[in-house]
Amino acid sequence: MAARPYIVGNWKMNGTRAMLSQARAIDRAAQNMMKVEVALAPPFTLLHAVHREVEQIGVGAQDCHPGADGACTGDVSATMVADAGAKFVIIGHSERRRDHGESDELVARKGVAALQAGMRLILCVGETEETRDDGQAEAFVTAQLKASLPATLESPAESLTVAYEPVWAIGTGRTPTVEDIGAMHGAIRAVLVDLYGAEEATQVRILYGGSVNADNARELLSAKEVGGALVGGASLTAESFLGIVVAAAEPVES
Ligand code: PEP
Repeated sequence: MAARPYIVGNWKMNGTRAMLSQARAIDRAAQNMMKVEVALAPPFTLLHAVHREVEQIGVGAQDCHPGADGACTGDVSATMVADAGAKFVIIGHSERRRDHGESDELVARKGVAALQAGMRLILCVGETEETRDDGQAEAFVTAQLKASLPATLESPAESLTVAYEPVWAIGTGRTPTVEDIGAMHGAIRAVLVDLYGAEEATQVRILYGGSVNADNARELLSAKEVGGALVGGASLTAESFLGIVVAAAEPVES
């Protein structure tokens, strides 16, 4: 695992102000685990409140609109989420690609807007089960990555995290083997080296996401080229999320 693992909780469409106590508890614990970089992506409605509650952990948004402002009812721009306290934005999550028809091209434009607003990116990629069964997982994910990267990204070392999230592993309790994760992360790294050169590309953390929990985190984080985890369901309580942070702080030697 990379020098400082990055563990990010994606709360998805969960949480009211009652959940701020979980953010506080995660933040307090993270202050004693400085070996791990910890962050939360709450829903838009809690972004500013979580930002105000925490001192140590990072706070980011789960999405942003590619435009600057205007007549886009219900949408939220990159400038707005940055103003609410977001330091990063998750783009290209498979639930947005699936439920909102987001194309690679749109994801890339959201990335441009987020960078312009001074935020970092967590860019999600991942194959469906059908694609994996067809033996096309690596070809699909590397093509998706290339097409979703924002054209204006100049310093990936500073601004980019990639999250490999096989669609079939999200929320299902199923995970790839450590070997399969290592192989996919290696392929993702090769794309980044090709596009940005080794010096920049080797500093980009590649997270694994999909059914990570406190029991399997140590093993999943031991896979080659894994720089941390993007966590959905298990990030909703401080207890389960911190189990993953502890696993990241004490990795098994691979
Ligand atoms: C996710 O959707 O980003 C995710 C990793 O979800 P879960 O951990 O619930 O599988």
